[in-house]
Amino acid sequence: MSKHYDVGIVGGGIIGQSIAYQLAKEGVSVLVLERDKGGSGATSAAAGMLGANSELEQNDAFFQFAKESQRQYHHLQDELLDLSQIHIQLVDKGMYKVAKTLEEVMSLKQAVHHHESLEWHTKETVLINEPYVSNEIEGALHIPEDGHVSPIHVCKAFTKSASLLGATFIENAPVHSIQKTSVNDYVLCTPQGDFTCNKVVVANGVWSGYFFKQLGLPNGMKPVKGECLAVKSNTLHLEKTIFYDHCYIVPKGDGRFVIGATMVEDDWSTTPSLGGIQALIEKITPLMPSISSAQLVSTWAGLRPQSEDGKPYIGLHPEDDNILFATGHYRNGILLAPQTGTMIRDFILKRKIDENYVRAFSITRNLTQSVR
Ligand code: FAD
Repeated sequence: MSKHYDVGIVGGGIIGQSIAYQLAKEGVSVLVLERDKGGSGATSAAAGMLGANSELEQNDAFFQFAKESQRQYHHLQDELLDLSQIHIQLVDKGMYKVAKTLEEVMSLKQAVHHHESLEWHTKETVLINEPYVSNEIEGALHIPEDGHVSPIHVCKAFTKSASLLGATFIENAPVHSIQKTSVNDYVLCTPQGDFTCNKVVVANGVWSGYFFKQLGLPNGMKPVKGECLAVKSNTLHLEKTIFYDHCYIVPKGDGRFVIGATMVEDDWSTTPSLGGIQALIEKITPLMPSISSAQLVSTWAGLRPQSEDGKPYIGLHPEDDNILFATGHYRNGILLAPQTGTMIRDFILKRKIDENYVRAFSITRNLTQSVR
């Protein structure tokens, strides 16, 4: 007979593994079922920016949640290293959000008033700090707190740490259905067998639309394909991430520069297109002209999970407290993974959660139709 678990998690991306880690730390017995290999979905495609300030413009609950998650990375880095011996490669040198026109200068300067850590840097200051950036810019918003990590290392560190704390992780185990039993348990059905648990967390990213439907909810999840490339160069140097109009160059600790990312709506394919890569090169080269002499290392694509309003769903099924969702993290799942893990842990352990977060990420916030 298969073992029974307190919590079964569907999906072994960064979100599922962060939740598994937080629960295993509390002595909860956890099972993660992953269709493919851990981290093989959007997680492995991400650039790993922790862009709380650069991605979110309003000072609302979502922004506060993102900031808390960003801060969590600082202690997680040591905690995960101690447990798993895996370095998550947190680089904390900040970001420049560049303006190329006077209109963009005006708009970026407004952000300085909203967030006290942000500063406006003139073109001269930017070029002293980052000599490889083009002198065709007008200046840049300096965002010291928006660093980056290696998403796949974070995911592996969560997985290994959770396993060392007793969690079970099974790969090549696609969950086909979530069935309620007569004794109010759940059965997760996979080709590797059925697994029973008291509670289920649906955390399978862009593919979670299938389970919303199966569990009687009308919420949708759409793919927004993102294409990236990585280059290497011995002669170029960048300290900070350079961000312009949703595109970026992230200088990784291993000497690569990750350039991303396109936004292609409703495309389920995970092969990068020539046009997508070409568009990125055309946008990025004017910001850092000497990058065109760098060597191409790789290209790839992944699917961002986008909910109806672009915010994640982190919470309880409206009619069943034993089913939880943690999905729809769209452009910011790497940034939001630590805080999502602690929020789901707190739901499961019935701990107090900030009501603003409960409301902001509730499953029912977008529902106009009644739940079946
Ligand atoms: P995924 O990583 O997609 O994981 C879901 C997992 O569920 C997959 O491994 C999949 O195989 C598995 N699965 C699916 N169906 C089933 C099933 N039925 N049974 C079992 N398992 C199943 N975010 C940032 O914060 N910073 C960034 O810089 C950043 N850059 C990005 C760049 C690109 C090009 C892309 C595509 C995304 C980027 N993101 C970034 C977004 C981030 O990658 C996602 O929000 C995040 O990875 C979502 O994590 P997840 O675990 O929910 O989904």
